Amino acid sequence: MTNSAKGVIFIGDGMGGRPVPELGGMTTLEAQETPALDLVAREGACGLMDPIAPGIPAGSDTAHMAILGYDPHTYYRGRGPFEAKGVGIDVQVGDVAFRCNFSTVEERRVVDRRAGRIKEGTDQLAAAISEDVPTVEDVEIIFKPSVEHRAALVLRGPGLSHEISEVDPHDPGVDYLKSHPLPGAEDPEAAEKTARVLNEFVERTHEVLEGHPVNRQRRAAGELPANIVLPRGAGTAVQLQPLSERYGLHAAMIVEVDLVRGLGQYLDMDVIKVDGATGGQDTDEMAIAAAVAAALDDHDFVLANIKAPDLGGHDGNCRMKMEAIAKVDRAVGHILDEVDFATTTIMITADHSTPCSVKDHSGDAVPVAFYGRGVRPDDVERYGERACGKGIMGHLRGMEVMHVLTNMMGRAEKFGA
Ligand code: ZN
Ligand code: ZN
Repeated sequence: MTNSAKGVIFIGDGMGGRPVPELGGMTTLEAQETPALDLVAREGACGLMDPIAPGIPAGSDTAHMAILGYDPHTYYRGRGPFEAKGVGIDVQVGDVAFRCNFSTVEERRVVDRRAGRIKEGTDQLAAAISEDVPTVEDVEIIFKPSVEHRAALVLRGPGLSHEISEVDPHDPGVDYLKSHPLPGAEDPEAAEKTARVLNEFVERTHEVLEGHPVNRQRRAAGELPANIVLPRGAGTAVQLQPLSERYGLHAAMIVEVDLVRGLGQYLDMDVIKVDGATGGQDTDEMAIAAAVAAALDDHDFVLANIKAPDLGGHDGNCRMKMEAIAKVDRAVGHILDEVDFATTTIMITADHSTPCSVKDHSGDAVPVAFYGRGVRPDDVERYGERACGKGIMGHLRGMEVMHVLTNMMGRAEKFGA
């Protein structure tokens, strides 16, 4: 089949919500003016989507997996491998990966999990760790700093498992923990070894970092030393079929969060970085939109995500979330101006709801709207939770949307004769 139709999935991270009394019982998405999203809904086909399944609050990683058609119940073994890919570590099948914080401890007590939000010097600290702790037992240590206090760790060697308990207590003021095999671990011996190696790694980072010149300077300046590395979120790297192979689409990803970017790298998508895409409230949504339009010149499929709506949701700040939704709307408006929708189909959705009343992800379905090539329009006039619920697409699951989209693009494979 020769068909050059293109597809876009545009995600406002955490954009779904619940009614807010102060907004007259509307959700933030309903209360915010969204002319571009409304145009997509009015001229397109709408519905609701459960990213994973009804009532399951999805993480950004598992939601994006499902939306791209990879069942997280089968393939998700923790977020560590995506984090590690996202910071540029060449993760291999069988590796156990972690996200890490540079933290501050006194003896074993955690004073600050983010080491005073250290911004500079972590390159040198990481280099010192890599030099002094290249291996523990027969396990190779791969450690790389990310932004601010964040870093990633990969353990590479025989007989490892991610089924171990956390080192990071997730709260300050208490001692950091010793990792143990999780009860019921599939391979208790592998879990025992991994926990032992991880505990040793943590102690060694404390020895290396405690007297490091970067920390001597920090102490002299009255700042907290980054004197230990606390890993968390263990995950085992598994084999995932590249997205282009799976759907016959040359695919790109334009997202702001390392974790999701790591998933894109994992799926062998072209992961495009955009100047001005900060992942914050101040992100340059027009630059992101321009990058999506440009990526469509030489890709068949683009997944894009703007992080900001999720932040307002987590903060419980509905106004902030509405401003972020306005950003998503402006970005979509720019894409509508720049892209030819006779040959392109776009789907606008969220990866999960982050209601500002909940301050976390909830299991509420999110709105979807399809627009452009191959779309049968319905009577929905506005983009929002209530309005889209009346649309022709009904209730989808994340795992189904790539099928729906590729069908509209005319690029779905026939099942049967
Ligand atoms: Zn998300
Ligand atoms: Zn979130």
